[in-house]
Amino acid sequence: MKIDILTLFPQMVSSALSESVIGRAIENGIIEINCIDIRDFSDNKHRKVDDYPYGGGSGMVMQAPPIYSAYQSVVQNCEAKPLVIYLSPQGKVFNQNMAKEFSKLSHIVMLCGHYEGVDERVIEEIVDLEVSIGDYVLTGGEIPAMAVCDSICRLVPGVLPCEEAYSNDSHYNGMLEYPQYTRPPEFLGRGVPEVLLSGHHANIEKWRHEQSFIRTKAKRPDLINKNDE
Ligand code: SAH
Repeated sequence: MKIDILTLFPQMVSSALSESVIGRAIENGIIEINCIDIRDFSDNKHRKVDDYPYGGGSGMVMQAPPIYSAYQSVVQNCEAKPLVIYLSPQGKVFNQNMAKEFSKLSHIVMLCGHYEGVDERVIEEIVDLEVSIGDYVLTGGEIPAMAVCDSICRLVPGVLPCEEAYSNDSHYNGMLEYPQYTRPPEFLGRGVPEVLLSGHHANIEKWRHEQSFIRTKAKRPDLINKNDE
């Protein structure tokens, strides 16, 4: 799995993805993440990559040519066309099923916008899919790219120790996960549910299943209705 991230702030993205589980997966060669600085493809001596919007209005718009050149540099030696995602508040709202589908791909390119966004023509030219992380607006596509990238990469085989490490997680099967406990056995007078200390695997499974249902019903009833559809 290779992910190329086109951004104006490569260090912001690469430093966040170099830690913890994803950082180890990169070190072990299971996934490859490259952050490409769009500014490197500016033909302006000040490395300028944005300009005023045609038609007026506030803010700056990222210009098409440097983004297109950055994209070309990534795909020029590729045998197969990668999936190109533009992180955008106008995109399809990201969810676990999309993470599952994307984790089966071998190559993804992500484009992070900034300022007022990106010249529409380069979106038309290179982008396959617009993806949003929710109905709110951020200053740039970097945090969305990190979130999407992280949730895809943890599903790539070998990144987590076993399938169970993610298949019980919230949203994987349309439900929220059961509550978790670890040592100490008592904390500020609160104990651990007896069944978890019983060593009886079938009962533990049953309890977890019930808790998962109770939680989902209480915290996210919309998910239960969705599962019924
Ligand atoms: N003017 C644009 C918003 C620009 S926000 C509009 O109204 O649609 C600047 C950049 O941040 C965008 O180009 C996009 O890459 C990113 N961004 C902002 N909110 C986002 C969200 N909810 N999901 C994904 N990307 C987002």
